[in-house]
Amino acid sequence: MSIFVYPGSFDPVTNGHLDIIDRASKLCDHLIVAVLTNSGKCPVFDREERLSLLQQVMGERENIEIRSFDGLLVHFMEEVGATTIVKGLRAMSDFEYEMQMALINKHLNPAVETLFMMADTQYSFLSSSAVRELARHGGPVEDFVPEGAVEAIRRKFKHKDAGQ
Ligand code: ADP
Repeated sequence: MSIFVYPGSFDPVTNGHLDIIDRASKLCDHLIVAVLTNSGKCPVFDREERLSLLQQVMGERENIEIRSFDGLLVHFMEEVGATTIVKGLRAMSDFEYEMQMALINKHLNPAVETLFMMADTQYSFLSSSAVRELARHGGPVEDFVPEGAVEAIRRKFKHKDAGQ
């Protein structure tokens, strides 16, 4: 059975992420969407919020599982018996960092492959940070994130502003 892992911050999930999830899930028996909780970044949405947003917009999908992980990705891969890391590439600017990560992961575990998928052209400009910036200024996040996530994102930034 082929198990792929699609890791990321998902802070918050965007239509670009969903496109990769859809396409990757057709290439394997089981896809684990893995929410990274220990990156150097300080996320706007905490672990539970990122997980539940993903869960909400994905619904129940037979071969897709949503989990969180911390520590090294290759250790998580070993723990879940996964063979392949899925990454989305938007532009050359993604490539340099992603290549470095792929080579390090290969060094740590030569059996692990990294599969790069080109972003769909309509999402190639889209990032979670752009969505956060839009939301912070009351912009139309509904153009870029799944319907089920819009309200939670708006609410988050309303509260953030109120707290400032
Ligand atoms: P971001 O870079 O937007 O903060 P993540 O760190 O959550 O997103 O990214 C997780 C994975 O999803 C990475 O492999 C990233 O390249 C990919 N990705 C992010 N946005 C898109 C998009 N719009 N289209 C395709 N892949 C994407």
